[in-house]
Amino acid sequence: MYLGIDDTDSRTGMCTTYVGFKIILRLIEMGYDIIGYPRLVRLNPNVPWKTRGNGSVVIRFGKGSGEDVVIGELNGRRITAKKRLVHDFDANIDDLIKDVERYFVLDEKNTNPGVVLTRRKLPQWLYWRGVRELLTVDDIERVLKANEAQYKKYKNGRGIIGASCGISWRPKFRTYELLTYLPEDSFYKRRFVDPDTVKKLDAMFPSTFDNYDYENDYTAIMPNSTTPVLYGIRGTSPEELMRAKEVVKSTDYEGFLIYETNQGSDDHLVRRRIKDIKPFTSVIVRGTVSKKPRRIRGGHTIFSLEDSTGTVECAAYEPTKKFRDIISSLEVGDVVEVYGGVRGSPLTVNIEKIRILKSVPVKKKISNPRCPVCGSKMESIGRGKGYRCRKCGTRAGEEDAKFIVVRRDMEGFYEVPVIARRHLSKPLKLMKS
Ligand SMILES: [Zn+2]
Repeated sequence: MYLGIDDTDSRTGMCTTYVGFKIILRLIEMGYDIIGYPRLVRLNPNVPWKTRGNGSVVIRFGKGSGEDVVIGELNGRRITAKKRLVHDFDANIDDLIKDVERYFVLDEKNTNPGVVLTRRKLPQWLYWRGVRELLTVDDIERVLKANEAQYKKYKNGRGIIGASCGISWRPKFRTYELLTYLPEDSFYKRRFVDPDTVKKLDAMFPSTFDNYDYENDYTAIMPNSTTPVLYGIRGTSPEELMRAKEVVKSTDYEGFLIYETNQGSDDHLVRRRIKDIKPFTSVIVRGTVSKKPRRIRGGHTIFSLEDSTGTVECAAYEPTKKFRDIISSLEVGDVVEVYGGVRGSPLTVNIEKIRILKSVPVKKKISNPRCPVCGSKMESIGRGKGYRCRKCGTRAGEEDAKFIVVRRDMEGFYEVPVIARRHLSKPLKLMKS
């Protein structure tokens, strides 16, 4: 059986992965085997109603076989899963979640939990639509009924969308995240993670990513809101994550769990021509810079990108910090590929990373022209107005100054700093491998 759960948390507290942790403990207590790693599946980051990370949790359980795989720990005792499923048991959705409903943040306006329990794996298209487009509760209920799934909606029940899409994920590219959880009486207390040890793990384990933002001195493994999560380490090897955890000095945690995830997969991105770009999606779009980048109010940097079908604005927002300098240095004529989420009106691509395919050379003035009549150095009349000789009054145009052509050699990939990175964005570190 697959149990999917989504939209139980809020911006200010709790975490759906913690609910998953509690459900796993309950399932084991009830005599089930967990099959494979639990999954944390991120969905369309541009949906207008998301709570925090727009991620759902999926747990597969039943009677398993094969060797035990360590997926977590509680108070020093290992939590294990089986590799394969032998057979399913019947299960009732209410029995499974009755103990964890108290962790749902139901008084938060935008939190609308959903739980789905199904014997059949749901169709794959559901995942791709969930990560790239917008789905409605009605769309999902039709699929759930056709697959004889049990489900439970709280409030408007939007959580069944993520829960179902999560169940339908078949990984094309996967990563893992090891999450440590605080004891329940410490959720709202101060917590501590030693940044120096995070930098150390970052250097020691190259299969991990997004641990620390050196440019902005930011410990990225630590959530910036009060949640049961003490920290989460992301990487491509579950074994290395467990070793990496040992390096971190922090407040005591109660247990940990390793999730298999689509984080860092770029699954949300679709290649589009400019005229086909739609709001609330994420795109890869190739074009030519048609207007010089400009800094606007709020510290955002914007430029216009053009292809044979139209023009679109691309933005590096203020939180992307130094990445804006890369964007600012673009010149009209540069050929680039922009990766990013699409905001509605006005249509703007929020840049996650950029590939500069061609950077045009620029003319750089090195000195004022010499007077063609008397040979002395001329002086500028004013910006864009040309030159005049101080001795004999002869005038010359802007283009008469001495220029050199400067190559820029900007070709390559550039990404926003870790502090501004989205869960689904594939870090360049993983693209090279
Ligand atoms: Zn002169």
